[in-house]
Amino acid sequence: MTTLANRALLPAAARVVVKVGSSSLTDGHGHLDRERLTAIANVVAERWAAGQMVVLVSSGAIAAALGPLALPDRPRDLATQQAAASVGQGLLVEHWAQAFAAHGLRVGQVLLTADDAMRRAHYRNASRALERLLELGVVPIVNENDVVATDEIRFGDNDRLAALVSHLVRADALVLLTDVDALYTGPPGRPASVRVPVVLGPDDVEGIDVSHRGSAVGTGGMVTKLDSVAIATASGIPVLLTSAANAHAGLAGNDVGTWFAATGRRASVRHLWLAHAARTRGRLVVDAGAVRALRDHGTSLLPAGVVAVTGRFSAGDPVEIADPDGTVVARGLVAYDADEVPALLGRQTADLAAELGAGYDRELVHRDDLVLLHELNPERRTKT
Ligand code: GLU
Repeated sequence: MTTLANRALLPAAARVVVKVGSSSLTDGHGHLDRERLTAIANVVAERWAAGQMVVLVSSGAIAAALGPLALPDRPRDLATQQAAASVGQGLLVEHWAQAFAAHGLRVGQVLLTADDAMRRAHYRNASRALERLLELGVVPIVNENDVVATDEIRFGDNDRLAALVSHLVRADALVLLTDVDALYTGPPGRPASVRVPVVLGPDDVEGIDVSHRGSAVGTGGMVTKLDSVAIATASGIPVLLTSAANAHAGLAGNDVGTWFAATGRRASVRHLWLAHAARTRGRLVVDAGAVRALRDHGTSLLPAGVVAVTGRFSAGDPVEIADPDGTVVARGLVAYDADEVPALLGRQTADLAAELGAGYDRELVHRDDLVLLHELNPERRTKT
């Protein structure tokens, strides 16, 4: 993987992930907009013809089913969302297949859940399938597997999914196509708001109010876009954010949209997920000595440094690790169930093993399953 220094190098990149949102693919009446979809397929097909491998992350499954199912708005309950996604996903892929067939290209549907990014075996599996599709010259059309994803294992938005897909396929860049043409210094449309052409790091976006809502049919908005940007750039993958209408100009390397430079090196996807996206299930409060050990020495979290526990979690769930003042210093995958933890607090690992027997000599959170939140490159810490 090469790190692209600026957007002008985008046309020369070997692999690019392009994410397109629901509002850019549907017509406002709950149906797919064939013209807009075809326009994007044309741009992507042109890149393929130029020798670039482009993976498409396409939203729109739920939005495309609103019309066919006579649903007035995007459903709020999970079951109806699942049903709508089931109907809409078929329509979506059918449209993409037709649009790409006009260029002699085949598409392959790839449906992923958050688990596919988190669990090592699933990750390898998904990565292998995507790799093979690309080798076969097939355009992968990726979406979340909304039909089976429960709230617990859901990304919920394709912005963050697209960042993880970029990681899965080792993309050189991620292009987020949405309904605004760039990041603005304030709400887009306000006269005082100006386009931010380049963002070199998190400091450049600090202070920009991105709280304005996204579209009525999509789920993202600027907040999840910036989460996606944080995941990708921290992993060494630069991001171009622009509108679907600018897709051609953007992929050609022209000065449109906002270019977010890469800030880190490739990191493990589990760490990225923990740092930027995982929903935590509980909290371990640790003493000052444990904070120092985690921060300065990259150690695992041992029971001896933990003073309190809250929440209901099972072994393997993400938890927050906070200092006594309540500042969250890290996140990690905890190695015990919540009800096992109180008996371990403040105890030395050797004593626990002697007293409680085998199995109780493991760390509360292993250093490989832990990410410090002040770092943008989590993997470097776990490797020291
Ligand atoms: N996966 C959802 C769908 O295809 C969209 C998520 C999003 O809006 O980002 O409808």
